[in-house]
Amino acid sequence: MDKNTRETRRKKRRRTRLVHAGRQPFEQHGFINTPIYRGSTVLFPNVEELHAYRQSYTYGTKGTPTTRALEDAWSELSGASETVLAPSGLAAIALALMTASKAGDHILVVDSVYRPARNFCDGMLKRFGVETEYYDPRIGADVANLIRPQTSVVFVESPGSQSLEVQDLPSIAQAAHARGVCVVADNTWATPLFFAAHEKGADLVCEAGTKYLSGHSDLLIGLVSANREWARKLRAAFDAFAMCAGPEDAFLALRGMRSMELRLREQEKAALDIARWLEQRNEISRVLHPALPSHPDHQLWKRDFTGSSGLFSVILKPFSEQSVASMLDELELFGLGYSFGGYESLVIPFDCRTYRTATRWEPEGPGLRLSIGLEDVEDLKEDLDAGLACLRADR
Ligand SMILES: *Cc1c(COP(=O)(O)O)cnc(C)c1O
Repeated sequence: MDKNTRETRRKKRRRTRLVHAGRQPFEQHGFINTPIYRGSTVLFPNVEELHAYRQSYTYGTKGTPTTRALEDAWSELSGASETVLAPSGLAAIALALMTASKAGDHILVVDSVYRPARNFCDGMLKRFGVETEYYDPRIGADVANLIRPQTSVVFVESPGSQSLEVQDLPSIAQAAHARGVCVVADNTWATPLFFAAHEKGADLVCEAGTKYLSGHSDLLIGLVSANREWARKLRAAFDAFAMCAGPEDAFLALRGMRSMELRLREQEKAALDIARWLEQRNEISRVLHPALPSHPDHQLWKRDFTGSSGLFSVILKPFSEQSVASMLDELELFGLGYSFGGYESLVIPFDCRTYRTATRWEPEGPGLRLSIGLEDVEDLKEDLDAGLACLRADR
């Protein structure tokens, strides 16, 4: 009845697939969006069916039509075999790592990893007998030298949190797979729209849907997608934890997906414009944006990515902490807060010096991370201009 299926969509372009994926209107009385199914118990029509356990839905923690719609759409967008949802991006990372490691294992994690993920490795995973070793984000194929017989995972995040180093995932994955090691990637910055992480070699891919998928700073959700080899193990780990996402959040995430490409393209354009403008400013020492030719990993970014999102960092000239505070307090449009990917611009000071262990982070000045939203770019520049004036005045 519905002519529009995953099969017929295969030949369509991505923007079309983003609009049509994960929808079954004729199973919902013709309504466009899959509604919010709330529920724990699912009824079976008779004892035979109860024992056969072959219904599409059997219990709330295992999924509902709402969560399935988002999972299916995400798998289609990511070129994955399977997707499971988690209540946050960090929960998605935890689930992926627990899927692929066990007591006695050694895992390799990039030094520029999202910091709470590092805390999960150093705390919880350690407690369960998994040893974490951090590696230089620019290691490439040399990661082979760090792989031991007990190594079960290489975890990549590209570009890195705060400092935006781009990783050579294809080379890392080749080295890992040669030794039977699972490659887990955090693809939150690029999303599947700008980086095809599975195609480049990742087995499990985590996304903080809290960021660009949501796009509106009003929900927390995580997604883990798996290739064919890891699909069953991922689903089994998901069932074991029953760490499921709420139906409203799944609904909102799927709604966000329809406009994700349009938002990201606008944020990409605006972020590049502002990054280039900042590169010309006297107060700035360096702009860390992989899509700028000045970025040390620009060639790698160009080879593997199809776009850049709205998040980048700058290293200021050596201004004092107080001057930076007066700059940030001066800003009217840029909010001070964690997270990114919403429609509103954000800024946050950062300092990786205290917690990186495999590499040395010695910037010549304070770091700021900017998330560019959907405001008018000229207004954002005027806001930053006023902030930078404040920075200079305070010197
Ligand atoms: C924000 C973020 C996460 C965690 O997402 P939450 O939903 O906030 O838990 C994970 N990885 C990266 C790279 C992030 O930026």
